[in-house]
Amino acid sequence: MIFYLSLGGNLGDRIKNLRAAIEKIKKIPQTKILKISRFYETEAWGLKNQPDFVNCALKISANLTPLQLLEKIQQIEFELGRVRKEHWGARTLDIDILFADDLKINSERLKIPHPYIFERDFVLIPLAEIFPNLKFNLHGDKVTKIFGSPRDFNLKFVACVDKNFGLGYKNNLLFKIPADLKNFRNLTLGNTIILGRKTLQTFPNAKPLEGRKNLILSRTIEKFIPSVEELFCKLNPAEKNFVVGGAEIFSELLPYAQEIFLSVVNSEKNADKFFPKFEDNFNLVEIKNFPEFELRRYLPLT
Ligand code: ADP
Ligand code: MG
Repeated sequence: MIFYLSLGGNLGDRIKNLRAAIEKIKKIPQTKILKISRFYETEAWGLKNQPDFVNCALKISANLTPLQLLEKIQQIEFELGRVRKEHWGARTLDIDILFADDLKINSERLKIPHPYIFERDFVLIPLAEIFPNLKFNLHGDKVTKIFGSPRDFNLKFVACVDKNFGLGYKNNLLFKIPADLKNFRNLTLGNTIILGRKTLQTFPNAKPLEGRKNLILSRTIEKFIPSVEELFCKLNPAEKNFVVGGAEIFSELLPYAQEIFLSVVNSEKNADKFFPKFEDNFNLVEIKNFPEFELRRYLPLT
């Protein structure tokens, strides 16, 4: 089922809390984040005398009933320390279900579509970004785009795969094609690369690549970056940030990808690691032909 969610909070580090909530939603089993809006700073609505909120909207697919999803998001609100004091009052995190397919639900615990969607500019403005055909009228509330959404980091993915999107076998890449390595170098040199610890092992002498800032993720080794939340705190959005693997990192960061460069070799190899399924949510916008492969460029569907 496709759900649209509205997230907001006005206590603590509001941007980090929203990103942490998105990470937790991403980790709900059989749930995929399909679209993320930018973040907006908004004046409190309802009870006025409280700090400004930061709000965003998500489109997700989840193999859950609306009530099951409500339980999951309430758990996430709880984990992120939401203090439920007053209706419409200050909170670290509020997650509301806006739409669930075309369902209409009107029970004590759950109302879908959410009854206030069309009265709240802080819901409508982020939602409109990820729901292009939504018809609505705004009310002139102050809603200002601010930096901080995972999509603001402009993550670009680079990989070389076989025709089945195989990436690697037994901790090694499937291909080492000079023309592809040259493309990789041209793209990434002078920029930032993001990789997992196992991918670092595949680099020459298991050393970070020269001429690039290397950001290495690992849940177990202390000197590396332990989570996606921490990664976002270290990324500079003004730089070009390339995610270079491996499979697990691609899959963790896929909801945040803003561009994908894939060198696709027209052969079939033995593979035990694959590039995550992405084609439903990206458009192929360009193909460059090389003798051994084609370099495809994809952009997210708008
Ligand atoms: P609000 O979101 O209106 O500021 P709360 O988050 O405190 O206020 O909402 C309280 C209750 O609203 C929740 O316990 C939940 O059961 C109910 N609720 C009804 N419809 C929805 C919905 N579509 N999404 C989230 N909560 C909902
Ligand atoms: Mg709520």
